[in-house]
Formats: sequence, structure tokens, C-alpha cells
Amino acid sequence: MCKILVAGGAGFIGSHLCKKLIEDNNEVICLDNLFTGSLANIKILQNNKNFKFIQHDVEEPIDLQVDKIYNLACPASPPHYQYNPVKTIRTSVVGMANLLELAKKCNATILQASTSEIYGNPLEHPQKETYWGNVNPIGIRSCYDEGKRCAETLMSDYHRQYGIDTKIVRIFNTYGPNMHPNDGRVVSNFIIQALKNEDITIYGEGNQTRSFCYVDDLVNALIKMMNTPDFCGPVNIGNPSERTILQLAELIIQLTKSSSKIIHKPLPSDDPTRRKPDITLAKSKLNWEPTIDIEEGLIKTINYFKSILQNI
Ligand code: NAD
Ligand code: UDP
Repeated sequence: MCKILVAGGAGFIGSHLCKKLIEDNNEVICLDNLFTGSLANIKILQNNKNFKFIQHDVEEPIDLQVDKIYNLACPASPPHYQYNPVKTIRTSVVGMANLLELAKKCNATILQASTSEIYGNPLEHPQKETYWGNVNPIGIRSCYDEGKRCAETLMSDYHRQYGIDTKIVRIFNTYGPNMHPNDGRVVSNFIIQALKNEDITIYGEGNQTRSFCYVDDLVNALIKMMNTPDFCGPVNIGNPSERTILQLAELIIQLTKSSSKIIHKPLPSDDPTRRKPDITLAKSKLNWEPTIDIEEGLIKTINYFKSILQNI
């Protein structure tokens, strides 16, 4: 039985990861400051004897004894990470350093939930891990993008300097149940608007593209990466099926049988125009590729939001 720390474990992806790790008979410590995560996300685990929740901010050092560390602690949606940008970059950088010190002390393997934002507004398409990115260092997304880039640097230097077993996963847009209803991300916004028959808010013309991965596929990849020896990454994890934001809106209207109308709002600055992962490396090193297509994943997510809508 492995003792595993999941920092950010009460969030959207973290809660699914904790659940899967418990199902796989591990002991899990979930660490979270509950900024965007919630106890409701981990409620079904709270009575499990192998699960423990600790309310803690990764900006503060922590002393535990663990075998593996997943670092997911960081708000992920633009409105949430822009709410307190100084806190966001400190969470990524100071938080990463604290968890790397813990990994060093415990001789634990540590995995960082990095992001496709590493690539910024990409000049290469689709994006391969070898692409160094096109990131604005002083814009409104920089607290997140540059914080995550610096965390990758810290991971790489702890690996080179101290021989820590580090793993970097660059996650592309992921969606599914347990997304925060008010986090402002496109999938949650569109589904809630559609279910309420309210206007669907497309930022800009809707020609920008994203590639959406269902959370179960992502969690499988995170666990495969953690358990694959001698491979630090970085590795892209995402679903290469790319679509415009307008196409996403139309699909959600169709699946929810909504009477919502599409309206346009201003495009936020530095909004990447397109994003699609090249997952050749994940296929070859992890024998992983996504299995859940967008319609199947959206239906599960729509059903989740239907069930919580009365509480929003
Ligand atoms: P989320 O906001 O639901 O989860 C983040 C969790 O971290 C929350 O539970 C939050 O309370 C916690 N947290 C934030 N700051 C913290 C701090 N200082 N100390 C302790 N806990 C803290 O977001 P998510 O979508 O589940 O994302 C999880 C991770 O995956 C994040 O690191 C994010 O950057 C990364 N990621 C997500 C996506 C995506 O599409 N969802 C894409 C790329 C990368
Ligand atoms: N978006 C949109 N309407 C919304 C929320 C988001 O058109 O209500 C757009 C946003 O401008 C971006 C894309 O959808 O182009 C994905 O946004 P999200 O915040 O989900 O993720 P990210 O921009 O970080 O990929």
C-alpha cells in the first residue's frame, strides 16, 4: 500500500484523482486550502479509513511521510487565478518549492500538474513538448502561465541538483463533474447557461479553438505517468479533438435541448487563439490516449450540473 499526498485534492481534478487512488487501495492524504475546492467534492471519501483531509496552504511548508506526491494545488480558471494574481504565482512557485523539499526529505516521487498555458498563444500547432512557447510575461494570464513555467524549472532543477524523481504533465483543457459551477470556465459556463435557458456568452467571435479532455481520461494518464519509471516528461495530456468555441456552444445547446441564444462578449486579453495537444509522446511512453469522446463526456457533465443546479 502506497502513502500518497494529493495537494489540491479537494478541487475538480484532485477529487477524481483521490477517489481513483483510494479505489486502487492506496492511502491518500488530501491537502487543500479550499480556495476553489470544496469538502463536498470529497464527501464520499471522508469516512474511508485510508483517506485523510488536511486543510493547509502549500505556501507554508509541511512535514509528512509519503511515497508519492501529486501537486494540483493552484486555481485553474482565469477568473479564479486572476482574483489574487500575487497569491496565484506564490502558490505555484513557493508551493512547488515546499512540496519539492518534502519529496527530497521523503525520497518521494513528485508529479506536477502543469498546463498547456506553458505554450502561451502558440506559434506551433499542434503543440509538442519540444515547443518553448509564446508567453506574455506581464499580462493578466502571466501569474498563472509564468508561475507554472517557474514550477517546471524548479522541478527540473531539483531533479538535476538533488536527483529527485520528478514528473511534469502538461494538462490541456479538462472538464467533467465537480467543476466549480462559478469558476467561469467555458464548459461549466455554457452548460449552466444552457440548462437555465439563458444567453450563451461567447467571448469574441468564437473562432478560437480548444481541445477538451474528459476528467477520467486525464486521471488515468496522471496515474500512468506517476507509475512509469525513468520518465520525467514533460508530457502533454489532453484530447487532440479540436473544436471552436462556437462549435462547443452549438453542441451544448443541442445536447441540453436548450432554447438559449448565443451572444458575444469582448475577448479577454491574451486569450490563446488555438490549442491542440500533440500526444505522440504520451502514446509511446505511457501507452495512453483518451477514450471518452466529447458527446459522452458532455452528457455526464450535463447530468452532474443538472443534479446540483438547484443549489447554485
Ligand atoms: P481547481 O481550482 O478545481 O483545483 C485546484 C485546487 O487547489 C482547489 O481545491 C484549491 O482549493 C486548491 N488550492 C489552490 N491554491 C492552493 C494553495 N495555495 N494551497 C493549497 N491548495 C490550494 O482546478 P482543477 O481544474 O482541478 O486543476 C487542478 C490542477 O490542474 C491545477 O494545478 C491546474 O493548474 C491544473 N490544470 C488544470 C486544467 C483544467 O483544464 N482543469 C488544465 C491545465 C492544468
Ligand atoms: N470562453 C467563452 N465564454 C465563456 C467562458 C470562456 O467564450 O463563458 C472562452 C474563453 O475566452 C477561451 C475559451 O472559451 O477562449 C476557453 O476558456 P476557459 O476559461 O475555459 O479556459 P482557457 O482560456 O484557460 O483555455
